[in-house]
This record gives sequence, structure tokens and C-alpha cells, in this order.
Amino acid sequence: MNINPKKSSLHVYDYVVVGSGLSGLLMTAALSRVTQNVLLLEAADTFGGVNQKQETAVGTINNGFRFLPDTDLSRKSMAFLSALFGESMEFRSVENAPVTYESGGLRPFVGFGNTPPTFYEEFSYFLSQQRLQCETHPYQWVEQLFEKSQADFIPRSYVTKFVEEGGKITRALINGQKNILGHNFIYCGPIQSLSILLPESGLSVRHRQKLSKAKYWTALCLDLVHSQLVAEPEKLHILNGTTQDDVGPCVGQFSAMVTSSPTAENPNEEKLQLSQWVSFIDNESAEDAEQIALTLKKIKRQIKRAYPTALDNLKSERILVTPSIGGNGEIKLNANQSLPNLPNFWIASGTLSTQKNLLGCLQQVELVCGALGFHPAGIELALPNERDLSEDLGDEAAL
Ligand SMILES: Cc1cc2nc3c(=O)[nH]c(=O)nc-3n(C[C@H](O)[C@H](O)[C@H](O)COP(=O)(O)OP(=O)(O)OC[C@H]3O[C@@H](n4cnc5c(N)ncnc54)[C@H](O)[C@@H]3O)c2cc1C
Repeated sequence: MNINPKKSSLHVYDYVVVGSGLSGLLMTAALSRVTQNVLLLEAADTFGGVNQKQETAVGTINNGFRFLPDTDLSRKSMAFLSALFGESMEFRSVENAPVTYESGGLRPFVGFGNTPPTFYEEFSYFLSQQRLQCETHPYQWVEQLFEKSQADFIPRSYVTKFVEEGGKITRALINGQKNILGHNFIYCGPIQSLSILLPESGLSVRHRQKLSKAKYWTALCLDLVHSQLVAEPEKLHILNGTTQDDVGPCVGQFSAMVTSSPTAENPNEEKLQLSQWVSFIDNESAEDAEQIALTLKKIKRQIKRAYPTALDNLKSERILVTPSIGGNGEIKLNANQSLPNLPNFWIASGTLSTQKNLLGCLQQVELVCGALGFHPAGIELALPNERDLSEDLGDEAAL
């Protein structure tokens, strides 16, 4: 990747990709196989989004735990990744069979019965009986994609507006002051931001309000490094509160024991175990720091209830709050995933997919790649002809 390239302010990119999380990097890697006149814009200091690696006492880990349910769609997505990387992405199917703590012991998790959590849709992704364990981690995927893409990359560039001229987006305004020109734009950021970023011709006032009023979920994650073996590794845990708890369940996993490498500060080898936990609260509640603190406290209480000594002598503890990881915001797109009134603006954000999380992200990017004719395996999306498309869209075409 060519970082902070020196290009004239009049340079027009073939494709401008916005957001360098996994979605944006997958898109950029696919596009850069066809043209090198591609720019990846990122608001943060560096690439990777929520999939940036984390250095801990147990080594390099994913930013929160990551897995794909073992489904046909996930396997198809792994084939897409292999085609994009140009090498086979190895994975194995592992029993996931979640357990829960009930009546004083761990039991197989059989569901929430009549009281599913309000964020059940976000949570159900983790409940599959089998999961795919990939040989390489998502934090490695983003690093490899960044290295292999032949494109320009500009960090610290927050897109504050997309500007339309003659029925197309012609430029992105970054940090409110600099214009980036492009023939085509692919958006890979959070979709609710589009209610502010898009011009009215791309998103009507009604759809804009609907998008900003939709419900979005914030992921609250807790990574704990234990200085003892707490629990059997790999098993997925669904821990629910007692009936008095108003916070919903959390999902988590313990790693295998790891021997830490001696350091100058700590010359003795230590046996450590990592556990990673996640729960959700709605974006509005997440704006209140007290609400976040309360939810994290309750997650800890749930862990302690199942494993009374789990929080003793912790080696480290890390909290990660990720807003808008999921939700029910919607934007109607053409069959080729572009906006009906802005045919050169595509959306490859995973939250628009019918699937969630990593799978949603892989699915949506694959759909856009296929539609653009850039699928790494040469698969093209069968687009309806123009007449069929307008019939499909009906009134929605006039967003
Ligand atoms: C703690 C945690 C645990 C998870 N666990 C799992 C799991 O076990 N299994 C699973 O499948 N999924 C999991 N996920 C979800 C999965 O990681 C995400 O769905 C996926 O990685 C999202 O990638 P993305 O590229 O769409 O978004 P992101 O990684 O959020 O990237 C978006 C990027 O766009 C940038 N950006 C946003 N707006 C702008 C703008 N206006 N201008 C420029 N740049 C912008 C952001 O800075 C960011 O870098 C988890 C997520 C979290 C946070």
C-alpha cells in the first residue's frame, strides 16, 4: 500500500474506498487486482478497524474473540477469501456446543426460552453447534490485505460529506476541507453515518430520519488474562444473570493455557489463560459512561458466579467498547448494491448484509465484488436487466 501518496489535488481515482476495516481492505484488495488507481481513506491513524491486533501477556490476539458459525454461507465466504488471497485459507470445523451456568453447575445451553435478550439477533450468531476455526486470525487477514494491495492509503481522513454533481458522487470531502475526486465510491463505514454524509438526492429526508432513528447496538468486550487455569479451553460460554439482573447475557470463551515469555520486568515464565467476553447495549445507553460501567460490572458478576476464583490475581484486564456493531438500520440498494439514485456509489458495509458480524462483512463485500465484475474467482453477479430492476425497486427507486 502506498501511504500518503503525493498526488495532485485534481487527480481522479477510479475507485475511492471509505473505511479501512476488514470490509474496506477486502474491497481494496479486490479492486487493486484490476486497477491501481484506487484510494483507501481511513478516519483513524491506522488501518484494520475493529480487527487490529492486540499485544497482551499471552501474545498477539484478536481485538475481542472472533469466529464464524459453520454454515454453508461461511464456507462459501472462506472460498471467497481464498480466491482473494490467492491461497487456500485453511480452517477446521470445531464443536461449539455452548454451555451455561445453571443450578450450581455448567450445563448445555438450550436457549433462552420465553425471555430472549433484547439483542437476541446480535447474539444468536454465536449459538451455532459447530464453528469454523481458521488457521489465520482476522487480525492477520487485515495485515496481509494491507500489504498485498497495490493502492493509495490516506489515514486520518474522515469523510465528512459525499458531494453529488449531475446524478453521481464526484468527490468526498475529508476532514471538512479537502476534496478527493473519484469516478466511483465504495462505502465501508457504519451505515447510520450515511444519514449525514450523503446528499439529499441519494437519501431522502424520510429515509435519512428512518436510518438515524433505527436501533444500533454497542459491543462491550472484556478481555481477561488469568494467572491460573480457570476453565476448560474452547468451550463457548453463555452466561446469564440471575433473574434480578436487568443486563442480558454475555458470551465468552477461555483460551488454552499459554506460557508467557520471560521479560526484563518479569524474568519468570508464567502459565496464563486468556478469556474474552462480549455483551451488547443499545447505542443510546452506551453514551452514558455509568451504564457501561454497570454492564461491565454485571458481566464480571456473571463470570464470577460460574467461576468464583476467575477474577483473583488477574494478570491484566482490558475493556473495549465498539459502537454500532449491529442494528436494524436499512438502506434500499439496487441489486448491484449501489444506491438507486447514485449509480456510482456502492455500500459494502457488513451491517447491510442479512448476515451478521464477520460473515456479514464477507458476504456484502463478495456481493459488491461480483456486481462490479471484480470477483477474484471470476464470478459475476447475475444482475437483472434494467426493466426488471425498476420493477423490483418500484417506489423505492425514488428514495
Ligand atoms: C469485540 C468484538 C467482537 C467480535 N466478535 C466477532 C466474532 O466472534 N465473530 C464475528 O464474526 N464477528 C465478530 N465481531 C464483528 C466483526 O469483527 C465485524 O463485523 C467486522 O470486523 C466489521 O468490519 P468492518 O470493516 O465492516 O468495520 P470496522 O472494522 O468498524 O471498520 C470501519 C472503518 O471505517 C472507518 N470509518 C468509519 N467512518 C469513516 C468515515 N466517515 N471516513 C473514513 N473512515 C471511516 C473506521 O475508522 C474503521 O476503521 C466482533 C466485533 C467486536 C468489536
